[in-house]
Amino acid sequence: MIGLSSIPSFDLKRNYQRVKWEVLRALEGVLEGQHFILGPEVKAFEGEFASYLGVDHAIGCASGSDALLLALMAIGVGPGDEVITTPFTFFASTSCISRLGARAVYVDVEPDTYNMRMDMVMDAVTDKTKAVLPVHIFGQMCPLEQIRGPLKERGISLIEDCAQSFGAVRRVDGELLRGGAVGDISCFSFFPTKNLGCYGDGGLVATGDEGLAGRLRSLRVHGSTSTYFHDEVGLNSRLDEIQAAILRVRLRHAEEWNEERRAIAERYRMLFAAKDLLEWVTPPVEAEGNRHVFHQYVVRAKDRDALQSFLAERGITTRVYYPLSLHLQPCFRYLGYKEGDFPVSEMLTREVLALPMFPELTPEEQEAVVAAMADFYRR
Ligand SMILES: *Cc1c(COP(=O)(O)O)cnc(C)c1O
Repeated sequence: MIGLSSIPSFDLKRNYQRVKWEVLRALEGVLEGQHFILGPEVKAFEGEFASYLGVDHAIGCASGSDALLLALMAIGVGPGDEVITTPFTFFASTSCISRLGARAVYVDVEPDTYNMRMDMVMDAVTDKTKAVLPVHIFGQMCPLEQIRGPLKERGISLIEDCAQSFGAVRRVDGELLRGGAVGDISCFSFFPTKNLGCYGDGGLVATGDEGLAGRLRSLRVHGSTSTYFHDEVGLNSRLDEIQAAILRVRLRHAEEWNEERRAIAERYRMLFAAKDLLEWVTPPVEAEGNRHVFHQYVVRAKDRDALQSFLAERGITTRVYYPLSLHLQPCFRYLGYKEGDFPVSEMLTREVLALPMFPELTPEEQEAVVAAMADFYRR
């Protein structure tokens, strides 16, 4: 390494410095109030989040994984049911299905957006299909307008996994909608590195349906609508009051941070072209009608593993999301899928590489990343 300091894949410390005093003031408010479970900060945050999203009801919970579990519980997914989803995503998008004794049915993904193929969803529907669970992967929305109508006709729920897409927007049937405002229920994660993250675990479920909202509020407190009386067995899964206070601060800045991510993505694209790297590196595609918020900046790269090691030697941290398609995970072997069943997802696991991406990444750091990539391919 020659005088280059290291470049992380993300850096939460830089972001904290931008909001430190606002966060400390918010924390002090919670500590003075001593109301820690489902207090005024959670209530206020849920209201602010719902109006940001343009959806009537927002229900905070303990994590994005719990948000998915609660959503499926609210629509009554159980043994014998099928849920259609993508094999190219984080584990939690499928574990919630198996956790409830239902079966994950996979549909392959697009090679350019990495999102689930909408044109194959209806072919995967059977009379056991209870829900479709698309993931807006890496920060851009699936074209849900292609399946929303047909699913409604068949009485199948559409549940959006928005863990990576906070702030994403899409023109849906002529209307600009946020990710999470298209389906019947949407699930968010506030894991610290997400586009809207807190300082621990946190999640949220949103819905426009009053009945489902009531069910979700009950399910997050042990299936109880009145203390110590239980209609069903739920979870203990609340959004923490301290995290809600932090999220209220960070929500006020999230749009600005997403714009910064978009500018970074644009600069990467220009640098690849300027360095003539497009023969080896395929940048992510923003589909027509989408506002991509680049939770991750994921390229497809020739000779990916060697490139990743080369960059690591130069102090540049990159990540592979995801190294193994979910249909090939040992714990989902019982589903009966095999290698070759989802060729695009499997190809991506060999080619994708997430470059450093966070709002505070500097142009100089980006130039160093792309220069190192150019050195690798021209070595
Ligand atoms: C992060 C993530 C989750 C889970 O969120 P947690 O808050 O970590 O439980 C679910 N789905 C996807 C696609 C994610 O990226």
